[in-house]
Amino acid sequence: MQLAERQDDYPIYYIMSDQPDCCGKCGSRVDLLEIKMIDGERVFVTECLGCHRETLIVEE
Ligand SMILES: [Zn+2]
Repeated sequence: MQLAERQDDYPIYYIMSDQPDCCGKCGSRVDLLEIKMIDGERVFVTECLGCHRETLIVEE
């Protein structure tokens, strides 16, 4: 039996120091879409220019 594991259903947070400015999935460059305040933290919302995956990056 195989369980399908979907990781695209929820956003993944990266710590800024761990995340270079390229997509963790396909390695393409990412583009900063907006900066949101979530739970009092500044969250950088980026979108990959290659696979269009949205990634959230928080400051440490
Ligand atoms: Zn990508």
